[in-house]
Amino acid sequence: SDAKERKVWFNGTMIPSGEATVPILTHSLQYGSGIFEGIRCYEGDGSSNIFRLKEHVARFLMTAKMYGLNLGYDAPEISRAIVETVKVNNLRSCYIRPFAFVDDDAISLGVGKKKVSTTVSVIPYDSIFGSKKSAGIRCKVSSWRRINSNILPIQAKASGNYINSIIAANEASATGFDEAILLSEGGYLAEGTGENIFIVKDGTILTPGKDSDILLGITRESIIDISRDLGYSVIERRLHRDELYTADEVFLAGTAAEVTPVVNVDGLVVGDGKVGRITSSISDMYYGIVTAKEKKYSKWLTPVK
Ligand code: PMP
Repeated sequence: SDAKERKVWFNGTMIPSGEATVPILTHSLQYGSGIFEGIRCYEGDGSSNIFRLKEHVARFLMTAKMYGLNLGYDAPEISRAIVETVKVNNLRSCYIRPFAFVDDDAISLGVGKKKVSTTVSVIPYDSIFGSKKSAGIRCKVSSWRRINSNILPIQAKASGNYINSIIAANEASATGFDEAILLSEGGYLAEGTGENIFIVKDGTILTPGKDSDILLGITRESIIDISRDLGYSVIERRLHRDELYTADEVFLAGTAAEVTPVVNVDGLVVGDGKVGRITSSISDMYYGIVTAKEKKYSKWLTPVK
């Protein structure tokens, strides 16, 4: 469907996306006070299914709370808005972007009692790394550190939090890499600009834990469950930068990235430079789950009916 004709859920009504616009002085446009989610819907088993809707909606409301935005909608209402928006746009698979913002042109910073608007948009989508994804991407350890909880609530998905990711992504692409990997303030591996990171060493899967200043992603949690189910042992701990260089396999995981193999870090080849066997098995299982082929995980899917 044409982007301008697509329908956006805007404070309870469906409007054409071309009309879902804001004045230039809008607080959230000027100051980054918007909050959002990224959710995926995949076709499978005769319907479209939204992956882990409940968890995404819970995080959206948690973000709203931490940034002082009173949406005026509860979890069932937001969930219904999301399902309705997917349905009305007739997209079998898509990326879903709930977004709430301070809909006020005031120059003062505090959100206070300023008007908040809540929206849901849907976008046809493949993967954030596009055609590069299947053969694996090249990453750079960023010279920028990941923000931490003394600076901003890092479990929140607020627009302003992403300035940190944007500057790291700019540096990576300006120096010829596909993606940045940020270290925590303490110098341990944290995450990509919008993905969590996993490494594989001697058959064991390792990923940074809560003490590494990461967003505890919903895909990350899903991958940990899937991996254990596949019989791998998964360890959550602080990871040193050199463990990245000596890993057998590295991959990134997130809603937009799904499971994206990393085949090169800072010019050093990861393993044999090819997509790893364990990465592939996890990626295959992940696709099987989101496309409703793995019945055991159907609890993670919300059919759009
Ligand atoms: N880290 C950051 C900084 C992110 O923005 C995202 C995307 N939400 C992730 C990790 C992955 O989270 P999820 O699996 O919930 O999409």
